[in-house]
Amino acid sequence: MQYSALVKVYEEIASTTKRLEKTKYLSVLLKNTPSQNLSTVLLLLRGRVFATWDKRKLGVAARLVLKAINVATGIDAKKIEDEWKKTGDLGIVAENLAGKKTQATLFSQELDIKQVFDNLQKLSTLEGAGTVDRKIKLIAQLLTSAKPVEARYIVRTVLEELRAGIGEGSIRDAILWAYFSKELKIHYDKEKNELVIPDKDRTKYNEYLDIVQRAIDLTNDFATVAKIASTKGLEGLQKIELKPQIPVKVMLYQKAKDIKDAFERVGKPAAFEYKYDGFRLQVHKVDNKISLYTRRLEEVTKQFPEVVEYTKKHVSGDSFVLDAEAVGFDKKSGKYLPFQKVSQRIKRKYGIKELADKMPVEVNVFDILQYNGKTLLDEQFKKRRAIIAKIIDEQPKQIICAKQLITDSVKAAQEFYGQALKSGEEGIMAKNLSSPYKPGSRVGYGVKIKPTMDELDLVIVGAEWGEGKRSGWLTSFAVACQDEDGNILNIGKVGTGIKELEQEGGVTFEQLTELLKPLIIKEKGKTVTVKPKIIIEVRYEEIQKSPAYKSSYALRFPRLVRLREDRGLDDISNLETVEDLYYGQKK
Ligand code: AMP
Repeated sequence: MQYSALVKVYEEIASTTKRLEKTKYLSVLLKNTPSQNLSTVLLLLRGRVFATWDKRKLGVAARLVLKAINVATGIDAKKIEDEWKKTGDLGIVAENLAGKKTQATLFSQELDIKQVFDNLQKLSTLEGAGTVDRKIKLIAQLLTSAKPVEARYIVRTVLEELRAGIGEGSIRDAILWAYFSKELKIHYDKEKNELVIPDKDRTKYNEYLDIVQRAIDLTNDFATVAKIASTKGLEGLQKIELKPQIPVKVMLYQKAKDIKDAFERVGKPAAFEYKYDGFRLQVHKVDNKISLYTRRLEEVTKQFPEVVEYTKKHVSGDSFVLDAEAVGFDKKSGKYLPFQKVSQRIKRKYGIKELADKMPVEVNVFDILQYNGKTLLDEQFKKRRAIIAKIIDEQPKQIICAKQLITDSVKAAQEFYGQALKSGEEGIMAKNLSSPYKPGSRVGYGVKIKPTMDELDLVIVGAEWGEGKRSGWLTSFAVACQDEDGNILNIGKVGTGIKELEQEGGVTFEQLTELLKPLIIKEKGKTVTVKPKIIIEVRYEEIQKSPAYKSSYALRFPRLVRLREDRGLDDISNLETVEDLYYGQKK
């Protein structure tokens, strides 16, 4: 398959803001993509060469790409740099300059999608002497054969800046349209920008959509779903079961104002649980092998050898997938530790054993998604909880079931809440007893109640060089949330909560400057634009409506709480959450 076929779709999608029209282009692309290319196409469509949870990362700096453009076009590096300063977008620079390059292009071959993908993946595996030159060569090789517009998309993909505005929902819909339009007798009317459904009755359409969504939830892989849909149809999709060792997206929770509000949302009676302040951990077992995954679905089995051991010893069953919160504690004093302290274990590559001895984690299990080969997502929560209670032989400071109280009394729940706060927990959760488990969504089958305002996880997209005693540091950080298609939307500027001196503890200007400097993509006077990568937790007094920012919201008195190294760009707060919080504060 030629790379140009994909670029055509990037261009089509960029040409419209209409969601249905975008879906149409995507569905045509999927239909025309040979099955062996589906995985590649589905990743590249979203500007990726690795799944989000894959440990391999591209990590190519803009300077290196600049050099590759220089090698590919023979154009002076200084001129490329000037163009870059002018446009602020190396993709556009590559496109403009590729048009000017010498005859070489006329003789080079059409770019194949596989070659693009392979070269980009190789970038992450190179190590040792001569790495930089080899990377430049891999990129230059692609740029040499690329047509101008292809060069633009290659550069953006390499720099991880291709945000085509294609959300997971659009891909799901595109899969449905691509493989089931005939069965559903649907078609897209471009004139009216409307999906035409027989008798305007969406029942069957929604049924099919749910089945596609379920398949995506269970496999966590669009390509697998597309392949099964095209070869085995609806029945094939319905037969999919959850398989341990394939991480599942975690269910998320909404925020309730207080206990009364919680009851209104999840019903009476409800299950209340401690909300532990640790990190989400998915524990999988199959064929006597335990694997652990974070909320971002990164595998962390090696980092937590003690959890592997407890699970083997104290959880019965041939296969299962548990959802839990892991909380670290100090081995000597037995005291629980704040998340920041334990978070270093997640990324740790060396000295794992020593750290595990010093700072082990306790696993608090609160849900189960699969047991002995049976998918449990559609079982009621109370039934899932009963399974956990049956299969876990509880061992404090190793593995336990989340502390739970089932009640319909506001008073009893209030007492439980007080108890949780007194023992140092963040708050409590309230869960609907008969709800299913919905991977990846904030559906409200459970809500959290905590005394503090809900923080937002925002990505830094810009900053300003400081003055006076802060000169040499980046200050005043522009932060953003995202919409459902992954578009990055500014929501304010954070200047407080950051420390000048290391002794003060917490995040320093120096530390943030170090992290952000390599990510700078544009500079204008004192203002810099950075690649969205660094995620911070932000507290604020209030959310306000504001035309000043793309999100239409602004934060009053925002302050940085901590770096969220456990979160990726996909995990930053979305507009829906911001809106929820905005209306919540008005109640
Ligand atoms: P938040 O991150 O503030 O949206 O709160 C939800 C998070 O709380 C979940 O993603 C879990 O990591 C964590 N958590 C702690 N205890 C529980 C519990 N008993 N049930 C569900 N989630 C919990």
